[in-house]
Amino acid sequence: MKIALAGNPNSGKTTLFNDLTGSSQYVGNWPGVTVEKKEGKLKKHKDVIIQDLPGIYSLSPYSMEEVISRRYLVNEKPDAIINIIDGTNIERNLYLTTQLLELGLPMVVAVNMMDLVEKNGDHIDMNALEKMLGCHVMPISALKGKGSREVAELAISIANKKVLNRPELYEGPLLSTIKSIESELSNVDQRMKRWFAVKVFERDEKVINELNLSSLLAKYEKNIKKIEDDEDDDAESIITTTRYEYISNIVNDCVTRKSSSQASLSDKIDKIVTNRILALPIFAVIMTLMFKATIDIGGIAQGWVEETLFGEWIMPFVEGLLKSLGVNSWITDLVVNGIISTCGFVLTFLPLILILFLFISILEDSGYMARVAFIMDRIFRKFGLSGKSFIPILIGAGCGVPAIMGTRTIENEKDRRMTIMLATFIPCSAKLEIITIITAAFFKEMWWIAPAMYFLGMAIIILSGIALKKTRAFAGEVAPFVMELPAYHVPQVKTVLLRVWDRAKEYVIKAGTIIFTFAVILWFLSNHTWSLQYIDGESAEIAHSMLRSIGEFIAPLFKPLGFGNWQGGVAVLVAEGAKELAPAIVDTLAGKAGITSLFTPMAAFSFMTLNLFDPPCTAAMGAIMREMGDRKWGVFAILYQVVLGYAISFVFYNMGSWLFYGASFGLTQIISIVIIFFAIYMVVRPAPKAKTSAAATLEV
Ligand code: GDP
Ligand code: MG
Repeated sequence: MKIALAGNPNSGKTTLFNDLTGSSQYVGNWPGVTVEKKEGKLKKHKDVIIQDLPGIYSLSPYSMEEVISRRYLVNEKPDAIINIIDGTNIERNLYLTTQLLELGLPMVVAVNMMDLVEKNGDHIDMNALEKMLGCHVMPISALKGKGSREVAELAISIANKKVLNRPELYEGPLLSTIKSIESELSNVDQRMKRWFAVKVFERDEKVINELNLSSLLAKYEKNIKKIEDDEDDDAESIITTTRYEYISNIVNDCVTRKSSSQASLSDKIDKIVTNRILALPIFAVIMTLMFKATIDIGGIAQGWVEETLFGEWIMPFVEGLLKSLGVNSWITDLVVNGIISTCGFVLTFLPLILILFLFISILEDSGYMARVAFIMDRIFRKFGLSGKSFIPILIGAGCGVPAIMGTRTIENEKDRRMTIMLATFIPCSAKLEIITIITAAFFKEMWWIAPAMYFLGMAIIILSGIALKKTRAFAGEVAPFVMELPAYHVPQVKTVLLRVWDRAKEYVIKAGTIIFTFAVILWFLSNHTWSLQYIDGESAEIAHSMLRSIGEFIAPLFKPLGFGNWQGGVAVLVAEGAKELAPAIVDTLAGKAGITSLFTPMAAFSFMTLNLFDPPCTAAMGAIMREMGDRKWGVFAILYQVVLGYAISFVFYNMGSWLFYGASFGLTQIISIVIIFFAIYMVVRPAPKAKTSAAATLEV
């Protein structure tokens, strides 16, 4: 049996879903977090599948979320729908409800957030609501787990039953036209006739094309036109208005509100936090503190994990064990120096990542991140970018892959492509490892380098965005970004921990799969010659390893960036496999001499920026290719990242060496200045005049 959860964004679908299925899906505070539908089994009812649909405001086909949810409901016909609505925001939430009712599927309306409704001193008359909607209604609080179970049981019990009496929203000629259309619909589910009839009346192109209803529409075109003329409005708006009239009746009859004159605490906080002048500085301070605290606290834990846990306990223990078992040295070396040391090194960052995720999750759950998206929208918009692009970018601080997938919520194809190209410029958690390792080794006192890299990433995104928007391939109107700000609340321990767990789990899985595989390959390459002869890592013969000759082959590429040594070359190469491996491999290859023996400080800096801003890891590049849906665009995105990453490191290294480390001014500095001027020109040049659309499409 299939039960679908449908509702507005932020109504609590995912919270309910997690409560019902015991899973830990991402509970987000903004639209676009759940793009794909997710399904899970109802706890203690293995034959009941619960489907978490993307949040939608209506069943019109205007956004990706709407298309996905609507297609699912209409085509898959779940056995029952749980329509979850936010009890503190009934008017807006019921709009979708009026549409879902027309689908004619068995449905329960779960009025969520009852804890808040009660706290506000409001009252919702559930019996009256049930009568007016003509379907089952139940108060719940998904967050507190109150009523979740009961709603699911109720949904199961009404599944496949005939729907109760649906209220009649329409009247007069509108009703008779809809009824006539209804009577002429064949080939559609009996229960859904009303929904299809209304869609035909609205001239919904998707429905009409998919079901070949254009002749039916043509037949009623005159009637529809007449109604439009009488009402002096277009068909779609007439339906919308009717729905809202009905909803306002419901609210009048069922909802009593305590006088709500005083400004809520949330509003007061927002006055400061989203203030035009203060918003950005506040955001910058919060981010800076967050990264500083992450690195300070995480650094201590990391040191312990690396030196004591792995260095003193696990590695010697395993080595001793293998030796005492008489395992040969080739295998011992592979296990200890190949696998445990690399995977272990990556795992030493786990405390750091846990703390970062903890901070981010707290900021998200409190409602602050939603404000950040709002603030960013205001800024992005000035430059012709959409604030919708910001959410994937924010997710990118955790991992680039979900960030790239998250772009699916952006309807405008050009904006979506651009966001896919740019989202990974924000350092992900693996890149944070590169930042910490380089900062700890070369720039000890400069704790601000980590936050600065995030702001640099942000600047690259904004400046790239501005420059790209001026090219014909990306030019266009900014899509509107509607988002409402959820009330601030004290972060829920459970939600926060679940989210941290979710992300940490992925990290550990990655260490155990991708990193593990790479560790074995890398160990093999660095301990064998081309003729497959084993070289003991302790001996000095690493000179002949395959890894070294590969590194030497590509190293000249990085000479202009300050680190033409084979170790650096190898590190950049393997970082394209997984960014976590860059610090691990550098650490291994430097051996006892330490990583300061491999780079000068300026070269280390450029090594870091190259790894941060060149193309992301294979997994993220794969996501870019898939989401672009077109090889040409995927390759373009990755080339853009290659060129940009290289140029940034080139400029930093050469200008930095000249300005701070007394290098003489020469050709590379001149080239750097040319690059800087070119970049400035691309950003500030006037946008070219809009071409006719035919020409523009040809260009693309
Ligand atoms: P979705 O967008 O519909 O999937 O909504 P989410 O499940 O992500 O929830 C949005 C926000 O509302 C989260 O911050 C939840 O913690 C919060 N929330 C969900 N249910 C309740 C509830 O019953 N009471 C309160 N106070 N908050 C809730
Ligand atoms: Mg959700």
